[in-house]
Amino acid sequence: MNCLEFRRVVLEEPQQLPPALSEHKQQCKDCQRYYTQLQEQEALLMEALAVPVPEDLAAKIMLQCSFDQTADQEVSEAEPKIVPLKSKSKTFRQFIGGFAVAASVMMGVVFWQAHLNSEQQQLTEMFVQHMEHEAHSLVLEEPISVGRVGFTLNNVGIKPMAELANVTYAANCVIEDKMVAHLVVKTDQGPVTVLLMPHKQFGDEFAEEAKQWQVALTNMKQGSVAFIGPKSLNLEPIQQQVMQSVDVLQI
Ligand SMILES: [Zn+2]
Repeated sequence: MNCLEFRRVVLEEPQQLPPALSEHKQQCKDCQRYYTQLQEQEALLMEALAVPVPEDLAAKIMLQCSFDQTADQEVSEAEPKIVPLKSKSKTFRQFIGGFAVAASVMMGVVFWQAHLNSEQQQLTEMFVQHMEHEAHSLVLEEPISVGRVGFTLNNVGIKPMAELANVTYAANCVIEDKMVAHLVVKTDQGPVTVLLMPHKQFGDEFAEEAKQWQVALTNMKQGSVAFIGPKSLNLEPIQQQVMQSVDVLQI
């Protein structure tokens, strides 16, 4: 065995020294020194590799890798890449921000709806109160003359376009400082009170109930009409008949 052969085999398998190599080492001083240096390097390498490693190191590395991937997806090229958690919390804040805006809009709608409902409920109660104040009008049986109905309507600037059948009561009353035409139309299901208020616009049309009564507010070309009848009654036919029979004159 020559020196070259000895060093090649020793590099391949430094731990175990076959008898032929051991024999050469004892005879050759250079190879003996070479082998000693190789053994020292080997020992240093083993020492370096023997540094204790945290048990969850692998998990930490994998977690960091997944954050880096998320950051790459979320953060543009111009932004620094080492802030994956910041970019995540920013997204969360945006989500929370959007939720807060949506919630406040929803609250606004709910409050507006409640405000609107209470306003309509107040109007409903006012119309019912007015009707009950003239309760005697509800028990009249005999239809009044077309002339009388026309006169009552004319007093508030309303022109009759067709004959209103079965009107048993017609009077001019005051509601919220404005003169109105107060009619009662007799039907099979009970009396329907019609308050024609060309000088009063109460806003959106609505249908509400109060006690045993139902109230429907309809808008005319100018002003509003309130229909009040028993809850069980279908107001629609009377509403149609009245709306087709009157026209508001230019006030
Ligand atoms: Zn009245």
